[in-house]
Order: sequence, then C-alpha cells, then structure tokens
Amino acid sequence: MQGTLRHVGALRLSSVDGRTLLVCSLVLAAVWGQMNFTGDQVLRVLAKNEKQLSLLRDLEGLKPQKVDFWRSPARPSLPVDMRVPFSELKDVKSYLDSHGLAYSIMIKDIQVLLDQEREAMAKSRRLERSTSSFSYSSYHTLEEIYSWIDNFVTEHSDIVSKIRIGHSFENRSILVLKFSTGGSQRPAIWIDTGIHSREWITHATGIWTAKKIVNAYDKDHILTNILNTMDIFLEIVSNPDGFAFTHSMNRLWRKNKSIRPGLFCIGVDLNRNWKSGFGGNGSNDNPCSETYHGPAPQSEPEVAAIVKFITTHGNIKALISIHSYSQMLMYPYGRSLEPVSNQEELYNLAKDAVKALHKVHGINYIYGSISTTLYVASGITVDWAYDSGIKYSFSFELRDTGRYGFLLPATQIVPTAQETWLALRTIMEHTLNHLY
Ligand SMILES: [Zn+2]
Repeated sequence: MQGTLRHVGALRLSSVDGRTLLVCSLVLAAVWGQMNFTGDQVLRVLAKNEKQLSLLRDLEGLKPQKVDFWRSPARPSLPVDMRVPFSELKDVKSYLDSHGLAYSIMIKDIQVLLDQEREAMAKSRRLERSTSSFSYSSYHTLEEIYSWIDNFVTEHSDIVSKIRIGHSFENRSILVLKFSTGGSQRPAIWIDTGIHSREWITHATGIWTAKKIVNAYDKDHILTNILNTMDIFLEIVSNPDGFAFTHSMNRLWRKNKSIRPGLFCIGVDLNRNWKSGFGGNGSNDNPCSETYHGPAPQSEPEVAAIVKFITTHGNIKALISIHSYSQMLMYPYGRSLEPVSNQEELYNLAKDAVKALHKVHGINYIYGSISTTLYVASGITVDWAYDSGIKYSFSFELRDTGRYGFLLPATQIVPTAQETWLALRTIMEHTLNHLY
C-alpha cells in the first residue's frame, strides 16, 4: 500500500527531488499507517582495527538518527551491521569508501522482507481463525499474544497463572506467567523476552517456551525436577508499548514509548535504564539515541515493575534476559571488564548451555562476559540482577548472525526456540543443583 502512495506522489511531484519525495511519503505513511522502508539497506562493515571502529562510531554523530546500528561497533572480530535509509545511502557509502572501510550489503531492500513478513502473518492469521488454533510458528500482535496468554492460563490452570506486575508508560498491562507446582515463595527462575521491541524472535521463543514447559512437565525428568522445587516466571512482552508500535507503525522500533516534556525524541532504551552502572559507558544521555538511558535509574515503568517484582519476591536464583540477534550467550558484567566473583562457574555453565544448544540444529553461539564478548554496556538488566544477588544471570542474543537480523523469517521460530530451550534448561538445572 505504501508503494502505491509513493507512486502517486511521484506522479504529482515530478519536479521535486527524491529527498523531498521521500519525506512526503514518510509523512503520508505516518498519517495512513506503517512506516515504509523501501530502498533502505543493511550494510555490514568488517572493521580491521580500533581506528576503523571509531570511524564507524563517528557516523552516529555525523548522521544523527539516520544510521541505525543493528550490530554496533564492538571489536574488530565482530561485524558491524547498520540500517541506512535510502536517502542516506549515497552519503554513507561514500564515507565508507573514502575511509577505506570495506562493506557488503546484507539486506538489499528492507521493505521486501517486511512485506514478506506481513504476508506470512496474514496467511497464518487466516489459518488460525479457520482452525481456531494458535500457530507457534508465526509472529503475532500484542492483542493476539495477550489473548493467547488468557487461553493458555485457563487451559493449564493447574500449573500456570498470570500476574499483572505493572503498567507500561501508555498504560498497557505488563504480564508475567508463573509456572508453579505448589509451595510459596519457592526459589525461582526469571526469564524475560522482548525488552527491545523489534526483536520479534524473542517474544515468539518465549511463547513456544511457555508451551514447552507445560508439555514437558511430568515427561522430561530434568524440567520436572526443576518445577518440583522451583517456580519459573516468564515475561513475554517486556516492552508492550514498543511492541505494539512495531506492529502499528515502525517495525524497527527498539525503545519504550515514554514522552517527557521538552524532549523531541521518544523512548528510553529499557536495557540501559537499570541502576547498576547507570549512565556509564555504552549508554547515551542523548534522548534521541537508540541507547538513551533515561533521566534516572528505573525511571521507566517497564523496568520499575520488574525491579519491584523481583525485589519483593526475594528468592529469584537465576535471571535470563533474552535478546536478538548475534547468537551469543553472555553473563555480567556489561558495565566494565571487571570479572564477576563466580566468573569461572558462569563461563563453564555458558559453555555447557551453548554445547546443548548446538546439538539441536548445529547452530554456533559465542559466549563469555558481556563486556569482553560484545562491548561495554551500562545500566543493563543482567548487571542489576547480579548486583542484586542473583548469581546466575545470563543474557541471550538469539538467531541469526545478520542474514535477516531482526527480520528473521517465521520459519525459524520453532528451530530457534527448540535449541534455546536446551540452553535454558541447562542453566535452570545447574541453578537447581546449586541452590543458594
Ligand atoms: Zn536487545
């Protein structure tokens, strides 16, 4: 539909330049529906050294809010992926060329993938309606997920319940699933997905995991042992406003949707808003940045709700925060290179989890502490969890490594969830065997 809009615009505005046309079409898109990414590309740069990395970092300052890093400049061994709007492609490519930064085109036209994704969702929705069933191999909207949660909890009320832990900035319910076979304030595992709204594979993996837990109880002896002693809390949509926005307007939205008087830009990066190391390296005090940490620690209701819930519970033994993409399993710290006190245990556990994951579909993950594996990042969930006494704190970056990035086709949901499950189970089992 947006393609048609642009076409109509082109006929009427034949004398204006492409940039004006693009702005017009974005405005039309904003009024009439989804943002259009026609011609936007994802470029991959393999930086040879620190100097080249810093030239890439400079791009954020040179092209504020234009270049969207999907994989930020981290270290020379890791690729840098960035989405460049069609209107900026020429400039950015000549910047890369002039500095001797070799690049390849990972995604030639983002809109093509978005159209395919939308079509697959529509097709699956028709099938789900005609068969009155829920497809675990499709992406879903917030409304669909929340209605699935209600049905799921009703159907498995012996083992699952729904807890509302707070409300988002735009007043949506923040929901957590509790898996429990009895007892009160049992030691527990916390898992969250979707704190960055565009990472759709994480919500889909969370949904599949919920189903897996109820199916595996009483069949899989490891999961049965875990649930006979511990509870599992699963927050599937950790950023409901951002997630709703990825469906209604901007598929590539990452932050929440909070608005503050006097600020032009919207949203805080919910994975920079935690107290631990708040405002430090790898977070940004510019409200327009994708890694804006917000005005104060836990200023965002989505973060404050989790902090309150976990603190009040007081017996969470492991926390696993799930992101995408890059295929990594990591543990604290993010805020500095300082090793945590049980670094060796976490390293070995990550290694075992990644090995279990690999066995399922042969997918390779890298692992280690966040600051040494990826980059320094401050104010993040797992650092807060660790500093709050949760010594098994992990962060996943799910599939893929960049072929599709955040636009991972729905055909990869089930395989991704299957392999992730084995890694999750490894961490939960270790926690069970090392209760503290
Ligand atoms: Zn993320």
